[in-house]
Amino acid sequence: MKKREKLAIIHQWYPKDITTIDSVNRIIDFVEYDLDLEPKQIMLADSICSDDVNSIQYPARTQEFLGPFKMGGLDGFPFTGLTGMGAFASHVPDDGAVFIYYGPHIGITKDGTIGEIHRLGQSKNSSCCGAAKGALGKLMNNQISSGNISELDYQMNTIEQILYKEKERVLKADSPLYEATEVIYEAIDKRINELVEQTNYHCKFVILVGAILINSDSDM
Ligand SMILES: [Zn+2]
Repeated sequence: MKKREKLAIIHQWYPKDITTIDSVNRIIDFVEYDLDLEPKQIMLADSICSDDVNSIQYPARTQEFLGPFKMGGLDGFPFTGLTGMGAFASHVPDDGAVFIYYGPHIGITKDGTIGEIHRLGQSKNSSCCGAAKGALGKLMNNQISSGNISELDYQMNTIEQILYKEKERVLKADSPLYEATEVIYEAIDKRINELVEQTNYHCKFVILVGAILINSDSDM
């Protein structure tokens, strides 16, 4: 399947989507031409879901940066908090920059189904993001109660609470999973900006790139 054909499937849901490879190339161009820095002067941190597919589909050219520092837990929420943000802020080269890539993820199969992907070696598709789908299922079945965050499943419960606060908006949407992903994006974006606001940086720039990360079938 050609790149153009693959993107056409994804564009049914996300009309502005570009490939991860193209997005990394654009950022490297921006670093080199607009900021006049080298990728080795950039400390990359990402706040994306810990799902193994995000490691498998991580674009290779990101290795030109330092890092990545991993801020994310389930569905990309920056669970490492202020301590995590402060940690890599203190690791960045003096003349360099911090580059934070953040956002939730979602699967789209080659037949255009949202919320699942085919994973290598499996006969059936599976959920993507599993945490977002799990939280949405609980929201639909009225199984989330306000403020319920347990030690045993802290990250999942946090995602549940994010959706619970926007229950009506999510459940009324044409695609509740699409909408839930938007809601989670907004929560991540808000939190990242709060963390940046409260962190001291000793470098020249802080680059923030927020997006919905889209996964697809293993052969796409
Ligand atoms: Zn996930």
